[in-house]
Amino acid sequence: MRTRRVFSGLAGLGAIALLHCGGGEPEAPAPPDVPTRVDVFLGKDGIRILGAEATKDAEPIPPRGYGTVRGRTLVYEFRATTPRATSAGGSIDDPRFVEADGLDAPRLGPSGVLHLDLPAAEGNLVIRTEDGAEIGHAHVDPAALDSADEIVNLSRDVIGAPRRLAFAGAAARVNFLVVPEGYTQAELPRFHDDAKKIVDGLAHTDGFDRVFYGVNVWMQDIRSKESGISDPEAGVVKDTAFGITFDAMPGIRRAIAPAANVQDASYAALAKIARKVRADAVIVVVNTKEHAGMRVSENVFVSVADTSVLTIGHELGHLLFGLADEYTDNAGPCVKPLDRPRPNVAEALDAIPWADMLTTRTLPTPANAPRETIGAFEGAKACPKGLWRPQVDCKMRSLGAPFCKVCARALETFFRQRGITPR
Ligand SMILES: [Zn+2]
Repeated sequence: MRTRRVFSGLAGLGAIALLHCGGGEPEAPAPPDVPTRVDVFLGKDGIRILGAEATKDAEPIPPRGYGTVRGRTLVYEFRATTPRATSAGGSIDDPRFVEADGLDAPRLGPSGVLHLDLPAAEGNLVIRTEDGAEIGHAHVDPAALDSADEIVNLSRDVIGAPRRLAFAGAAARVNFLVVPEGYTQAELPRFHDDAKKIVDGLAHTDGFDRVFYGVNVWMQDIRSKESGISDPEAGVVKDTAFGITFDAMPGIRRAIAPAANVQDASYAALAKIARKVRADAVIVVVNTKEHAGMRVSENVFVSVADTSVLTIGHELGHLLFGLADEYTDNAGPCVKPLDRPRPNVAEALDAIPWADMLTTRTLPTPANAPRETIGAFEGAKACPKGLWRPQVDCKMRSLGAPFCKVCARALETFFRQRGITPR
């Protein structure tokens, strides 16, 4: 996610005035030079501050694949209430987009998390759309946040602290968190087995196997009161930790996500838990064997099916590497132009993002070309015509396929940006 940031305010003006006047005046207190990273939850009911910490030793906010949906920018404004403190503002990509099979376009989802670098001062934060409509406002007090961070009270259901499932080292710069949904306390040992299988599978999946040495995977025990998840079609309602249900997108059974009535609480809770380990992706293992999966902002919901690992790989392709689907069928209506530039889909044959990797001059490339050919194959992102993909097949097109070379490069680019060189 990219941030465009503007700092301004009294302290900055004071410093300029001193330069012009020379000595003589008492020096203003130094402006806070260590910004605070503030995590802000955007939900249906406005915004909440999840937590804050000084960024003195923190890495810059790392890039992620899902940002920059065209024309979908939020504006934030922080007004310090401490005298002489700095105010700040800027624009930032809206993190609340849902991408799922069957949707005609990325759609505004129920929630998302913003990571803002703000001055280390007490003040008021307002988030608006580009049109100026307020999404929410909150008071930020960096001094109070560390002690009073129990905004989401999950203490009855969250058991202990996150544990290491695969540990690359304290310096690892990519973190995944695995949490259970629909497992009772008695079933948590089975969750541990399921989580381990999924993570082992991912660690040996094409592409991920070369970078997993640099990934920390954490696991957090969370118990549900009942086993399984809600199934509206069957009239089944379950009391579970995150209220996940089949049919979360009406008419799409395999879309599993928190039910509408618990969305805000569940997504805020997930964001809160993710924050403990600075998770880049939260993998929610859902206790059902039926093939199902969905991604909503930083969360990947996946059932315990034979397809789980493949589904996660595909969803992480969207979440972390910014890849588009390459399907042309069973994926909803064709919508052009693209919502944002994608590494693996071309909108025109004279503007191919992978032009440097082409192995043929035949553009478009016929579908019967050898499978290893990197060209421009017509059909991607639910459009049989007018969009082109790099190879005949890819994990972004068929679950069982490996990433095509262009998508594999996007994976490698992400991990290299995090200091992890593929082995
Ligand atoms: Zn691909």
